[in-house]
Amino acid sequence: MASRKGRTPRGGAAATTARAPRRSRSILIVLLAVLGASIAGWRLLYRTSAAPPNLLLITIDTLRADRVGAYGAGSGRTPALDALAARGVRFEETQTAVPLTGPSHATILTGTYPPTHGVRGNVVFTLADTHPTLATLLKRRGYHTAAFVGAYPVAAAFGFGQGFETFDEEFHETSPVDQGAERRANEVADAAGRWLAAAPTDAPFFAWLHFYDPHAPYSPPSPYREQFAGQPYEGEVAFTDAQIGRVLDALRAAGRDANTVVMALADHGEGLGDHGEATHAVLTYQSTMRVPFIVAGPGVPASRTIKTRVATIDVLPTALGLLGYEADRSLLGRDLRPLINGREVAGDPFYQESLFGRLNCHWATLRGWVKDDWKLMTGAEPELYNLAEDPGELRNLAASQPDRVKRMTEELQRGMQRLAPGGDRAQPRPASAEQEERLRSLGYTAGSGGSGPLDDPSLPDPRTHVELYDRLQAATVAQGVALPAAFEDVQRITRLDPNNPFAFGTLASMAYRHGSLRVAADAFARALELDPDRPGVRQNYGKLLRELERYDDSERELRLAVAQSDDDSRTRISLAETLAAARKDSEAEQLVDAVLAKEPKQPEALAVKGRLLLAHGRATDAVPYFEKAAVASDPESFIVLARAYLAAGDVARARDAAGEALRRSPAHPWAMAVLGTALVREGQRAAGLDYLERAFAAGPRRPMVWEALAEGFDAANEPARAAACRKQAAAVSLSRP
Ligand SMILES: [Zn+2]
Repeated sequence: MASRKGRTPRGGAAATTARAPRRSRSILIVLLAVLGASIAGWRLLYRTSAAPPNLLLITIDTLRADRVGAYGAGSGRTPALDALAARGVRFEETQTAVPLTGPSHATILTGTYPPTHGVRGNVVFTLADTHPTLATLLKRRGYHTAAFVGAYPVAAAFGFGQGFETFDEEFHETSPVDQGAERRANEVADAAGRWLAAAPTDAPFFAWLHFYDPHAPYSPPSPYREQFAGQPYEGEVAFTDAQIGRVLDALRAAGRDANTVVMALADHGEGLGDHGEATHAVLTYQSTMRVPFIVAGPGVPASRTIKTRVATIDVLPTALGLLGYEADRSLLGRDLRPLINGREVAGDPFYQESLFGRLNCHWATLRGWVKDDWKLMTGAEPELYNLAEDPGELRNLAASQPDRVKRMTEELQRGMQRLAPGGDRAQPRPASAEQEERLRSLGYTAGSGGSGPLDDPSLPDPRTHVELYDRLQAATVAQGVALPAAFEDVQRITRLDPNNPFAFGTLASMAYRHGSLRVAADAFARALELDPDRPGVRQNYGKLLRELERYDDSERELRLAVAQSDDDSRTRISLAETLAAARKDSEAEQLVDAVLAKEPKQPEALAVKGRLLLAHGRATDAVPYFEKAAVASDPESFIVLARAYLAAGDVARARDAAGEALRRSPAHPWAMAVLGTALVREGQRAAGLDYLERAFAAGPRRPMVWEALAEGFDAANEPARAAACRKQAAAVSLSRP
């Protein structure tokens, strides 16, 4: 099993034992013991001379243990994982440390708990390079290292790329609201399969594959969509399993399966309604904390199930052990090889946490301690469960076992001193507007916690408030006809939970989409009052204030956002845009030129540059900037281009550019206003007026769109209509909070 060469001595040993039955029993036992020792000796000899095994680490996002066939979900759903368990070892009870993608993966890759590695949330926390990871440790030992990841929270930008020679993270847009934050399992498997087929054989490899598909929203592709109709989560799991099967096939095809240790586990599970939690991140019940964990390959016996409780911090020491290396002894995680080989190990207590509620919603921090079969949750009202007798955590024993609660609480506090000797602090890095947007597309937020201590039991209990989080998430993805009801629900939630910055942030972006700019401005202000260190949110607030023509307020917010973010060019450009609108041209020009010197193709900077030239009456010089700034993903960049053409007197091009914007965003009132104006000026008065009236009827929410309409009616010689538009523009911009 260890290597191809290793089989020879075992074959020889079998031939020798065949002669044994003629001897006495005691001699047989001695002989077997000697033979056993010699086999072990042979193995050791061959192991040291043969190439060390490869390591294939597969993490499946959001995969609940009890949805895997080998864990009792029934056959046919996860054949690849079940087959892996059949040729290896399956850990029945594995605890994750934290029910959130970034922090949990940081624990898996470093073998340390979140208070130690410091990754407490997605995106706004970065894994520092002072923490050795499986990748850095194995690269140092000569391994080829490669990662193929499925979603933004484990992007290289957040420290997950360290130690990897290849880090494949080609996320892209999968839907109109998606900002390129994830990719499908088949694409991850394709990329990994290509790499495995061509991976150099001069040294062993470490490959990490991350599959994101079981994460909400659940939308399995065909035929899983039909096969699992009404059970889309299970469909995503089955689809992901099929892709894992393809990767394992590719490994076999490359002839490298016999010498590859495969480890498959989840970063966390999914609530699926248990304890009132639809998804994950907020609560720390077993539906999200118990994960599947399967190990197979050289040195691992087949078909063994291990009941002893283990944890994801054990992954790194165990992986190193199976490859023939020893992990740093200061790590709390254990090398699980004794369990794998049928022996016992000392039971260890495990730490767990969720800071998600605290950092994003101003709810209490949840911390937990799992010892043997007992699990304590503290932070708010304590809960105590016996996981062996009550795996569903339905009977809270805290009131009936106060001594155990006290003892375990003290152990947890002592444990915390070890994990974070200087006291536990969560120190996020501020998220940019783009990062906020990408996170929102995945249903997350990037809260920094605002003021106050990390542990404050007087804050709202996440367990009674989790349904609000689920409702906010549902509202965030609501579209079309569902939008008004979702908008109303978010307004209700801000009244129920008036200190929740996530709720106000969600309200702000929904109100903006809904066209209620005044509600949006109020919500932004409240969200930032509760959690001031959010430059991404502040940038959006500054943009909204500019659209409301509140230039002084916009300038103040954007200056603050620039100060809060490290050198984010989009924030600087947004400030430049406000300064340009307020006719503070020279500073605006300086900011824009500085950004363009570094990033000559930055579309927002090009557009502001064009706008400044336009303001100085240099329309012809401005046009090339707007042409370069027009990007497919942003219909409004074609509208400003059309306006520049109009200013430069190129009416035909203006018509085409406005038409382009309208094709990308049908019924966009600003696009209709500019297209109508172009048509009128081209001599197609009736067609042009038709567009202008349609834009008027749409009831634009932004003053600048009314002003554009007024210009159109002026061009059509309709002064009364133009005056009506100017009146609307003034009314909208004066609707101040
Ligand atoms: Zn995850």
